Amino acid sequence: MELIKARYRIRCEMGGCRSVSDFTIKTARVGIRAHLHVCRGCLGGLYELIGKEIVPKPIENVIGGRKKKL
Ligand SMILES: [Zn+2]
Repeated sequence: MELIKARYRIRCEMGGCRSVSDFTIKTARVGIRAHLHVCRGCLGGLYELIGKEIVPKPIENVIGGRKKKL
């Protein structure tokens, strides 16, 4: 996935948002190319959302999960 600056003045595609998009999230999979246009405000909202969901695992948990089975 790539995050690129919007080249065209396209409406933000996040639900209910009517701003002009500032960025384009580009995804490329085999046979499928998708672009998601988002404004700066919505991108910030997404970032907060992702930050809550995807948190780096604390080191203690990693060590705890490596206990040897007896
Ligand atoms: Zn938006």
